[in-house]
Amino acid sequence: MTNKKIEINYSEYESVKHMEENDFQCVNSAEDNLKNAYAPYSKFKVSSLVQLDNGIKVLGTNQENMAYPSGLCAERVAIFSAKSQYPDNKVEQVFIVTEQGNETPFSPCGACRQVIMEYEMNQKSPIQIILKSGNSKIWKFNSMKDLLPFAFEAEEILKKD
Ligand SMILES: [Zn+2]
Repeated sequence: MTNKKIEINYSEYESVKHMEENDFQCVNSAEDNLKNAYAPYSKFKVSSLVQLDNGIKVLGTNQENMAYPSGLCAERVAIFSAKSQYPDNKVEQVFIVTEQGNETPFSPCGACRQVIMEYEMNQKSPIQIILKSGNSKIWKFNSMKDLLPFAFEAEEILKKD
């Protein structure tokens, strides 16, 4: 038996003011859009902004439903919308912000990580993930790989045939 260890890297910013101008604007746009979240059940509003390589920014918010599993997380609403409109463009960044927060930001659920990971694998270039919750510090990951090590990669299985 061998014990193994993996390491992930991310940046932490004390405030949006310390971020690059475009990142700062994207966080602000995503936060402005929190009002459009439909979260009557959880009362937990989430907003996401997807930055594409053509400069287009696509927003999404969480959309809940009384038939619980029918709702969808903000980041999947945003990235599915972006890829529906601009299938040939690469996703450069996904910003995810929440209304409420603690000292550190909330991070995306496992399903969203897997969805974003697949687009990252398809486009063969990393997708940055930027997280902020309320007045929390901001976390920036340079690739979904840092948030989803050992991702499910069906391609590897399919290649064997
Ligand atoms: Zn999710």
